[in-house]
Parts: sequence; structure tokens; C-alpha cells
Amino acid sequence: MRTAGFPCRRLGCELAFQVVDQRSMAALNAASALRSEHEVSAHGYHHVRIVSEPSYTPYQRSKVKPAAAK
Ligand SMILES: [Zn+2]
Repeated sequence: MRTAGFPCRRLGCELAFQVVDQRSMAALNAASALRSEHEVSAHGYHHVRIVSEPSYTPYQRSKVKPAAAK
């Protein structure tokens, strides 16, 4: 059964961190932080968060770099 919360993003892991109060930002952040902490400590998994730049592609940039970089 799925309830609102933060499921572990690691494939195969069914752990989820419930938000005690859905309207509370502090509760949301706490659950999110707990989930991230679990991912790192249990799986060594660091989720890369891209918040404000959905089309940001870090690897494309260096491809077209002229020799004037240094
Ligand atoms: Zn997990």
C-alpha cells in the first residue's frame, strides 16, 4: 500500500519515510533528510538533485570547449 512519503530511491528497496504532517515543511524536510541519510548509509547512494535547471546537462558543456579554457 502506498502512502504519501519519501520512498527510498534505490531500486529494490521498499523502505519509505512517512511525513508525519503533510502540511508541515519541517516534517517534509525531516522525512526527506531521513530518506537521504538512509540511502547514503544503507546503500552508499547519493541522489543527484537538480532543482531549478531541468535541462541542465553538465557533460555537454565541455564537449564544445575551445582551447581557450585555461
Ligand atoms: Zn533503501
